[in-house]
Amino acid sequence: MAQLSDDCFAFDGPLLSVEAAEALIAQRIPPLTGEEALPLAKAAGRVLARDLRAPLPLPPFFNAAVDGYAFRHADLPPGEGASLPLAGRIAAGHAAGETLPPGHAVRIFTGAPMPPGADTVVMQEDAGADAAGVRVPPGLRPGANARPAGEDVAEGALALPAGRRLRAPEIGLAAALGIAQLPVGPRVRVGVFSTGDELAPPGTPLGPAMTFDSNRFTLLALLSRLPVAASDLGILPDDPEATAAALRAAAGTHDLLLTSGGVSTGEEDHVRAAIEAGGRLVFWRLAVKPGRPVAMGVLPKAGGAFASGGTPVVGLPGNPVAAVVTFLHLARPLVLRLAGAAPEPLLRIRAEAGFAYRKKAGRREYVRVRLRDGIATKFEREGAGLLTSLTESDAFAELPEPMLAVAPGDPVTLLPFAALF
Ligand code: AMP
Ligand code: MG
Repeated sequence: MAQLSDDCFAFDGPLLSVEAAEALIAQRIPPLTGEEALPLAKAAGRVLARDLRAPLPLPPFFNAAVDGYAFRHADLPPGEGASLPLAGRIAAGHAAGETLPPGHAVRIFTGAPMPPGADTVVMQEDAGADAAGVRVPPGLRPGANARPAGEDVAEGALALPAGRRLRAPEIGLAAALGIAQLPVGPRVRVGVFSTGDELAPPGTPLGPAMTFDSNRFTLLALLSRLPVAASDLGILPDDPEATAAALRAAAGTHDLLLTSGGVSTGEEDHVRAAIEAGGRLVFWRLAVKPGRPVAMGVLPKAGGAFASGGTPVVGLPGNPVAAVVTFLHLARPLVLRLAGAAPEPLLRIRAEAGFAYRKKAGRREYVRVRLRDGIATKFEREGAGLLTSLTESDAFAELPEPMLAVAPGDPVTLLPFAALF
């Protein structure tokens, strides 16, 4: 359970910078506790709970990196090639056998153990073999095409640190070290609500003045890439009591609640008031576009008291692009933090602007761009409700707070969608 106390957030201002919000999460949210052992096939996407040290070197023994011929480099006359008689054959999975006799070579295959005494392999494509033996051309450096034991990971070295998210490469490394199951942290129980009288679930008839609820499905899809057990908690009506009651109830059984919509200052925006009524508001505006109205708070786990820790709640904005931007800056780091993952800054790359744009100082803006040959071209329109600005773009251009304008040719920082979605 998260042990969030009532006063764990010192921030009281109304408009918070993205950086300050991220720092707040990194410093104040305690990770959930709990650990389980999972077989590798089930561990992908989870967070490693303990340091993994290599129980053996990787590779475990000195072996050939290519199909070819193994020999002792010192047997070649300096700076020249040589013709070496063959003294045997070693296939992958078979013992190396005897020490290589001086002045000889052995036929060897990728992954086969190097015979004692050999240190270098000539690729079969580069070697000429005939009855007399194998012709080794000049120019090979000692140790070429051979992989020493432990060149990837030394025995006893830290292979994977606690807090690392287990993606395909981490799973592969654990397997290569002979480890069949890994200790992983808990999945974060995240409840997702939409809010709004205008929303209809996809698959139902669309009445007049209604809109299909897209955010809930976007958010559930974003969460599916994280160490999360997500619950779809449906659509809340624009009603203060119903909103407060639903949040209060869900706080008892979840580690994090996400809502979208209903956080602006309109009379029909009830999420902020619901957080204030049942718990404590931490902040409710972020200096970011799209995404400014976003509320973060803490709700008591049970009985109206914070003593047993609280459940963080993030009220994301209703506009679909704003919901995504604020998810990435608030919900994603919160989930990772609760899951015990090490901080993972979003991947940023540099590109050249192929567009002109003006912005206000004092807030960070995310402009959707296409990326071709290092040039970022802006999606034609800017509305925070345009879902196609996401489906038809490749990245967010991140325009920092002090910036006032972008001109073609300026360097810009991009958050590539491939690393986000
Ligand atoms: P709100 O902040 O509730 O006023 O919502 C801002 C805009 O986002 C309105 O046009 C809403 O209809 C829209 N919106 C809110 N929630 C959703 C949702 N779950 N799916 C799609 N659009 C939404
Ligand atoms: Mg609304």
